[in-house]
Amino acid sequence: MALACSTVAVPPDPIDVLLSAHGLRRTGAARLVLGWLLANPDTSYTHAQLQAALTDSTHSLDRVTLYRLIDRLTQVGLLLCRVDRQRVRRYQAMPASVKAMPHFECQSCHRDSPLVGALQANALDLELAAQNALQALQALGYQGLSFDLALRGVCADCAIAAAGARQSTP
Ligand SMILES: [Zn+2]
Repeated sequence: MALACSTVAVPPDPIDVLLSAHGLRRTGAARLVLGWLLANPDTSYTHAQLQAALTDSTHSLDRVTLYRLIDRLTQVGLLLCRVDRQRVRRYQAMPASVKAMPHFECQSCHRDSPLVGALQANALDLELAAQNALQALQALGYQGLSFDLALRGVCADCAIAAAGARQSTP
């Protein structure tokens, strides 16, 4: 069987595809930042944490470039920005769990996870109530409505770790 095309098709880099699809330039820094956040999708990071994580012997990223990039990536919806309890901005790759509502955001380890099982069944009532409210607003002519049903607190892992730390202090 003859191949229709003689050139070997190189699969496009998924990071490049994302950058292009969102109208961003495929710079080395953009690939580095988005690639790293997509490889660490469950947790949100501060500017300082990102800069520390992305600066090593092979890469260096100046602060201004990083800030600008993060802003751009957030504007186009590739990153999610949240402000934590200390009023510090944290960024993560737009998590699927934000769309999978309802979800839980741990304020300690900053992991983001969809609610499962019985918890979800309870929270779905809340989601239904919110959907009804949205429909009512839509009927009144409101536009561009959205809602984000997130439960926030400290996850069981963090709570256990904190309790352990308290016990070990004299
Ligand atoms: Zn946690």
